[in-house]
Amino acid sequence: MKIDLHVHTVYSDGSGTVREVLQTARAKGLDGLAITDHATLEGYFKARQYSGGMLVLPGYELSTDAGHVLVIGLEHLPSKKGFVNYEWLVKWARGEGGLTILAHPALNTGKLVRWVNCKTDAVEVLNASYPLSFFVNRGLKISRMLSVPTVGGSDAHFPGGVGDAYTVVEEDGWGFEDFSRALRNGRVAFNGRLSPLASRLRIGFKYLAWRTVFPKNF
Ligand SMILES: [Zn+2]
Ligand SMILES: [Zn+2]
Repeated sequence: MKIDLHVHTVYSDGSGTVREVLQTARAKGLDGLAITDHATLEGYFKARQYSGGMLVLPGYELSTDAGHVLVIGLEHLPSKKGFVNYEWLVKWARGEGGLTILAHPALNTGKLVRWVNCKTDAVEVLNASYPLSFFVNRGLKISRMLSVPTVGGSDAHFPGGVGDAYTVVEEDGWGFEDFSRALRNGRVAFNGRLSPLASRLRIGFKYLAWRTVFPKNF
C-alpha cells in the first residue's frame, strides 16, 4: 500500500481543498493518505465523507519545543493548546493509542538527545518539501541514531504535491490498526522524490507567513 502520511489542506496553511487533495492522491496511485493539518482535524473529517474507497487516516501536525510531530490515528487533539512539550506529546499520543512521527527532523538542530531519549514511533526521512536534497540524508542519519522505522510524506501544501513522497506499507489489511501494526513491526519504507523547487520555496514562504498570523499553532 502507498500512503502519503503528511498532507495539508485549506483547513490550515494548504491551498488544496479536501476534494482536490483526494483527487490527486487517486490520480497518483496512492491507496491512502493522512490529512495532517496544523492543530486541526477538520480536513480529516471532511475527507472521510469524500474518501471514495481511499484509506484516510486521522492525523494532525503539532509544534513542540523539539520540532514538529505528526500524530496519526487519533480523532481528538490534546487539550493543551499551542506549543506543547515534545516528551509530553509523545507519551500522551501513545497513551491514547495513536502513533507519532518526527516530521522533517533535518530542519531542526540540537534536539537529537531529546529525540533519542524519547522516541517517536517513526521518523519522516523523506519530506518532499525539504528545500534541498541533502536534508534527506541528514534525516536518514537521524533515523539511524533513533533506530525507529522510516517513513515518507509529501508535506504538500497544494494539491499537485500530494503523493510526491509517500510510505510503502507491507500490509494487506485496510485500516489504522493494520497500518499501526505494520509500522510498529518496521514493515514500512519511504519512497518518492522532492516536489519541484518552485513549489518547495513557495511552501517555505507561506509557512513563515502563517506562523506570523497564528504563532501559537505553528
Ligand atoms: Zn512541519
Ligand atoms: Zn507539515
